[in-house]
Amino acid sequence: MNDYYAILGVDRDANADEIKKAYRRLALQYHPDKNPGDKAAEEKFKQINEAYAVLSDPEKRANYDRYGTATPGGLGGAGSGNFGDIFDLFEQVFGFRSPGAAGRAPRGEDLEAAIELELVEVLHGVEKELEYERMVICESCNGQGGKRQACRICGGRGALEQVQRTFFGNMVAQVPCTACRGRGYTLSETCPTCKGQGRVRRSEKIKVNMPPGIDENQLLRVTGMGNLGPGGPGDLYVRTHIRPHPHLQREGANLVYSLKLGLAQAALGARVQIPGLEGELELSVPPGTHDGEVFELEGQGLPYPGSRNRGKLQVVTQIAVPQHLSKKARELLRQYAHEVGEEVAPEGLWDKVKRVFRG
Ligand SMILES: [Zn+2]
Ligand SMILES: [Zn+2]
Repeated sequence: MNDYYAILGVDRDANADEIKKAYRRLALQYHPDKNPGDKAAEEKFKQINEAYAVLSDPEKRANYDRYGTATPGGLGGAGSGNFGDIFDLFEQVFGFRSPGAAGRAPRGEDLEAAIELELVEVLHGVEKELEYERMVICESCNGQGGKRQACRICGGRGALEQVQRTFFGNMVAQVPCTACRGRGYTLSETCPTCKGQGRVRRSEKIKVNMPPGIDENQLLRVTGMGNLGPGGPGDLYVRTHIRPHPHLQREGANLVYSLKLGLAQAALGARVQIPGLEGELELSVPPGTHDGEVFELEGQGLPYPGSRNRGKLQVVTQIAVPQHLSKKARELLRQYAHEVGEEVAPEGLWDKVKRVFRG
């Protein structure tokens, strides 16, 4: 499998800017126009574009990080080697568009929101209500921002043509018209509701379905629930945050519980209660249990993503040496030590020594 991060030479936690920068640098270096007839450079150029197509898309990147592929349940999905797609992507990043492509109405921005879940909700999945704000079309002016008139500088096209010298020779680029900031119109009257923006902020309440086994920091896409733009809505990405459980720690589909055992319990064995996700579970600890032993309760963990099977609940023993003993308990322990022939410190010795804890 291709390591997209290695191909672009960025860290796994690189942000969108760093990824774009790395892509720009490499795409220029390996562009076929700069390396005519060089098959290796062409292959490299394809890989760079495939890596960028995945890592620049938050959902594809999340899937790639999680499943090692951009689309769950299938390989590829991005940059399958078709040069038409690749040059589309190249154009998006570098802004060299073919004449006629300018003026395409932009989609609204994608948004991100966070949802908190309890660990027990990961078990069966849950439907969560989410309240958030997004930009929608202003109803007072129908998204016009006020009274519009065509821009005199660009004649309403929003863009001006400019010849740019590039690595590959002269290219005609469409640059946004500065007079109208690329919009193609100016406002003769401004809508008071949206102050000319054409959009207003609105609170939304939606239900988001969280499937069983969902992970911490997972991104779920809610299509069309991002900001609205002239070319349609963006998407909403919901990031999961799972609250820590008071007793159980999550390790993928497994849960870990640290069980404190007394000296006598460890030596003689005991029946103990374990706080499982759905209630108390019973566990028999055999006589002679060591510190750090692991007992596994099969099927008491969390479900694997997309499966009915559950992981295990791992119980790790931690033998608690008593700190404060009664006189009677001390005597009994001395008797025990004598019985098994363990040499112990005489009564009172430790009163004279200061104890220093490190760590
Ligand atoms: Zn203009
Ligand atoms: Zn308005």
